[in-house]
Amino acid sequence: MIKTRITKLFGIERPIVQGGLMWVAKSELTSAVANAGGIGFMTALTFPEPEGLRAEIHKCRQLTNNPFGINLTFLPTLRPPDYPAYINVCIQEGIRFVETAGRNPEPYMDQLKSAGIKVIHKCTSVRHAVKAQKIGCDAVSIDGFEAAGHPGEDDVTTMILVPLTRDAIDLPIIASGGLGDGRGLVGALGLGADGINMGTRFVATQEAPVHANVKQALVDHNERDTRLIMRTLRNTERVMHNPVVDKVLEIESRGNTQIEDIVPFVSGLVGKEMLEQGQMEKGILAAGQTLGLVKDIPTCQELLDRIMAEAEKIIREKFSQVITD
Ligand code: NAD
Repeated sequence: MIKTRITKLFGIERPIVQGGLMWVAKSELTSAVANAGGIGFMTALTFPEPEGLRAEIHKCRQLTNNPFGINLTFLPTLRPPDYPAYINVCIQEGIRFVETAGRNPEPYMDQLKSAGIKVIHKCTSVRHAVKAQKIGCDAVSIDGFEAAGHPGEDDVTTMILVPLTRDAIDLPIIASGGLGDGRGLVGALGLGADGINMGTRFVATQEAPVHANVKQALVDHNERDTRLIMRTLRNTERVMHNPVVDKVLEIESRGNTQIEDIVPFVSGLVGKEMLEQGQMEKGILAAGQTLGLVKDIPTCQELLDRIMAEAEKIIREKFSQVITD
């Protein structure tokens, strides 16, 4: 057993977090992670209306008795959401943990904290982690440059971000970006984290509610198969390479790009169809460099069992061999 401030904060067995994944982090996946001893966050914006989130919370509770949370992402979006209404649903449904991501969650902290909700802020720089501590967050998830989705604009890797964040704040830290196995878990703990967050690795699991082609594509691609789009909009997104990504990059290379120029290619609704129907050249798919570590499609239980066994073996056997008097 590996017990950390993260297992204590959430009341879970294993320091492994399934972070918000647009269109993917729904009850099937999140409950499977919870039942395997980790914690998952269902992504609120996956449900176009707050009532959809409420129904999914009910569904998740049918599937697990273990804790789970809700992800709220604050980033530019084509369909601006009613964040207070989503938070109200969380409060009314007795959700105890919210993962905020992207922009500063400060405008919503009073609403969240006055309901006793623990806030885990996912950010991509040390300065934003310091701010998260200052405004009353309960933990920080720090997202390195390897990560899928929006890894920020500073291009600092997990290897550097985690120890610097450890030096800068007292809160529990979840390392995120480039993590997919027990070696990563041990490495992250060594760098000063209290647990790990995985995204790409969890999409390639039996329970992830996406088409089989998507899972197989994650297995078939490697660590060199991601690209960064929307850099020109300062809203960088790491995605899996395909012809649509090349088209977006070509448009961006012309200069003076506006979001309208690339909407048909990057729209989340197109991505949703791709995830559901498995047409891998239809739109874009967020994916991290962890692609290189994804070699199979296990159940969440098998994945978490394997990660913990591997981590414990490294700590018990390898570390004891390398220390000499
Ligand atoms: P969407 O369809 O609203 O937008 C598609 C993409 O365009 C998103 O990456 C979005 O950030 C970007 N975008 C939209 N308007 C923009 C603008 N004015 N300037 C710059 N970029 C703009 O997105 P969606 O797929 O429905 O996702 C909803 C929200 O969840 C978005 O904010 C998205 O960024 C976010 N998301 C976050 C992650 C993550 O890594 N945290 C992953 C997927 C989606």
